[in-house]
Amino acid sequence: MKILVIGSGGREHAIVRRLSRDSPAPVLHAAPGNPGIGDHATCHDVALDDHEGLLALARELEVDLVVVGPEAPLVAGLADVLREDGIAVFGPSAQAARLEGSKTWAKEIMEAAGVPTARSVSVSSGDEVLAGLDRVNPLRDVPFVVKADGLAAGKGVVVTDDIEHAIAHGRAVIGAGGSVVVEEYLDGPEVSLFCVSDGTRVVPLAPAQDFKRALDGDEGPNTGGMGAYSPLPWADADLAREVVATVAQPTIDELARRGTPFVGILYCGLALTARGVRVVEFNARFGDPETQVVLERLTSPFGELLLAAARGDLGAVAEPAWSDDAAVTVVLAAPGYPRRPRTGDHISGFDEAAAEGAVVIHAGTDVDPEGHLVSSGGRVLSVVGVGPTLEAARTVAYAGIDRIDLPGSHHRTDIAQQAAADEAGRSEGAADE
Ligand code: AMP
Repeated sequence: MKILVIGSGGREHAIVRRLSRDSPAPVLHAAPGNPGIGDHATCHDVALDDHEGLLALARELEVDLVVVGPEAPLVAGLADVLREDGIAVFGPSAQAARLEGSKTWAKEIMEAAGVPTARSVSVSSGDEVLAGLDRVNPLRDVPFVVKADGLAAGKGVVVTDDIEHAIAHGRAVIGAGGSVVVEEYLDGPEVSLFCVSDGTRVVPLAPAQDFKRALDGDEGPNTGGMGAYSPLPWADADLAREVVATVAQPTIDELARRGTPFVGILYCGLALTARGVRVVEFNARFGDPETQVVLERLTSPFGELLLAAARGDLGAVAEPAWSDDAAVTVVLAAPGYPRRPRTGDHISGFDEAAAEGAVVIHAGTDVDPEGHLVSSGGRVLSVVGVGPTLEAARTVAYAGIDRIDLPGSHHRTDIAQQAAADEAGRSEGAADE
């Protein structure tokens, strides 16, 4: 099988790394790729927004499948361009990708499909933000949630106790020509569940949890994600099945009914509230960094699964199988991330991190004219550890990240800490019985 993966981030590195471990291994190409992706795939220098160039590349390579990683080209219609040419694509059409591209539209679909989510209103005038906040939360309970309607790389959402800040965020987004969704705060642990869909069927992958805030203890601003782990020892074993039944399948059915079937990953960002599971957000692609831990645990063929979905034939493949091992990933961010990341710094220590047993995933890296690896984005790389317990996986991930040298970089030190402690407590409890 010959596969072209579109993208250049940590998610795409994790995807090609996992595809390269299928047996037999597929022939892998990527565009534009990054230095880590280049270890597993032939990289082609074609930009994400050059749809004609990507189509020409897919044709020239005669690939069996194109996997589109990031949201921006999906929302811009790359999957449509490829599909119209008869190419099998894993990734939704522009219409279906609006589930991620417009939070207002996603809310409309959820309402039509009866999917549980936060109460919300859409606001497109700065003067109406406060009225919107009062409508979804008349008692002004803190915190307040204001979200940019469109794509914002995980940074369009403000969750704050300061109503003035919430209003100012709404006004700023609207002032820049956008609109916002104001919604009720959902209290409870968050879970990310990737659901593979072929347009009608839904196959869930293993649940994961990510850490959105920049600093330890869930402090600081929201980011694209600072770390993740899987499995979730504290979650109900039936969680994935419940989410498929109440969230993913009704959403996929609603889109199919509207003539805009969704083929790809329906990423369900969920809050497990006291009142039950609620959707925080949908994304139309694999999430980063959760992909790194979820795919690290997948033991059944990955390329086959993606190809079957792209062909509308998920019924033909067996359910995904999972390792009992735990996986933890920790993101190393550039100085100044998320506000004003500095790029262009030298990075070293890859071999030393690998010697600790860690896997280094490249996200924002590049090679400078002298051949040095340098930072080129806010989230520069992440380090994945795998082990029989979350604690063991954490130990490997943190030993690896300690070996990486990037001047001024920062990372969270508490990824999966609580879950690892809970897991250890649980197994001690079991041993006592
Ligand atoms: P989103 O881009 O919608 O995923 O939002 C980014 C992050 O903001 C989520 O992962 C949550 O941590 C947080 N968030 C968004 N909406 C809510 C909400 N209604 N209640 C609580 N937290 C939220």
